[in-house]
Amino acid sequence: MSKSTGDKCSFCGKSGKEAQMLITGINGNICDTCTAMAYDIVSENTSKKTKDSEFSLSKEELPKPSEIKDFLDQYIIGQDNAKRYLSVAVYNHYKRLLQKNHATDDVEIEKSNIIMVGATGTGKTLLARTIAKRLHIPFTIVDATVLTEAGYVGEDIESILTRLLQAADYDVEAAQRGIVFIDEIDKIARKSDNPSITRDVSGEGVQQGLLKLLEGSIVNVPPQGGRKHPDQKMIPVDTKNILFICGGAFDGIEKKIAMRLNTKVVGYTAGKNAAAIDRNNMLQYITPQDLKAFGLIPEIIGRLPVLTYLNPLDRDVLRRILTEPKNSIIKQYTKLFQMDDIRLKIDEDVFDFIVDKAIEFKLGARGLRSIAETIMMDAMFDLPSRKEEELHITLPYAKEKLEKANFTGQVA
Ligand code: ADP
Repeated sequence: MSKSTGDKCSFCGKSGKEAQMLITGINGNICDTCTAMAYDIVSENTSKKTKDSEFSLSKEELPKPSEIKDFLDQYIIGQDNAKRYLSVAVYNHYKRLLQKNHATDDVEIEKSNIIMVGATGTGKTLLARTIAKRLHIPFTIVDATVLTEAGYVGEDIESILTRLLQAADYDVEAAQRGIVFIDEIDKIARKSDNPSITRDVSGEGVQQGLLKLLEGSIVNVPPQGGRKHPDQKMIPVDTKNILFICGGAFDGIEKKIAMRLNTKVVGYTAGKNAAAIDRNNMLQYITPQDLKAFGLIPEIIGRLPVLTYLNPLDRDVLRRILTEPKNSIIKQYTKLFQMDDIRLKIDEDVFDFIVDKAIEFKLGARGLRSIAETIMMDAMFDLPSRKEEELHITLPYAKEKLEKANFTGQVA
């Protein structure tokens, strides 16, 4: 570093006398002001790059469908059909986004929004959330029941995008490539298959509003959510490349599926087909036609071209959910105790007992956690302050704790 009065800054031309400091390199000089400016430019660019890469996805990074499914397998037990459909749909969706960079292509791939039908607690949200985690893209969950047509009490449809923007840390580019999971889509079905004559605030009107988002359009989004008000600055968000995954229990749709199947099997193949139908899991036969019969408008169904279902969770699956997923309930408790240097040991028949109770109280997978929590509660309270090295949970212990807590099966 030197300050020779004869030299000039090679960037702004300031002489050594004018500048407070002049740094000399091999073939030139830089003054203190230009150094500061250069520093600002470099740091701005670096932070932009890190922000981009947090949510960006390149062709090389895009996992293949089988890799997506392998990842899902680590967290979700069973549901093979849904996993395969989701993996392919998500893969195609992001391939489509990558194709956008090659404007010369004349085959335009259409968007593959997804609809998952399955009883509550069978893993729909978990599937969507896990995929978003794997892809490092902004993800949000919205509940269709709170949505109403603009102007009515409830949330406007645009609030969905406000949430996505928040999840993307207001990075509009990233939000425009994110995933939105719309839960309880069945709750906005219209009450009958016939178009309504009267206004249906929370049903058909909301479906019409959603349509706009699903098909892709530029929507003005209030950045903080809430009611639109005139002087609030709106952020335009293009929904063309946002992937929408809808989920719903569609209670009672089994009857509609059965009706359709029965009317179809009249004829000479009737006997054979009817025998092949698995009455315990009617959802596997679902078609878009059944969604229409349930009350979704055809335009919405048309915008959700990928239709898949989830199986009811049987005993065996519940038992596996308890211990097998990467962050299974039992692994979480083991970790919690481990942090206090306590080894957790649980007898096999305790697992069966927990599953039995979840079935008895009709709580499904969500119940496993509340039952396990009730059993562990006393130990979690007492043990950290005692000097014990092991907690051994036996069947009598588990039974006693559940009885003592007067467990009624209420899930928080
Ligand atoms: P849904 O969205 O279908 O109502 P969730 O995805 O919210 O159900 O599932 C509730 C909870 O039950 C999950 O957080 C998870 O702990 C557990 N769960 C449900 N199904 C599965 C499954 N197939 N594999 C692993 N865990 C599951």
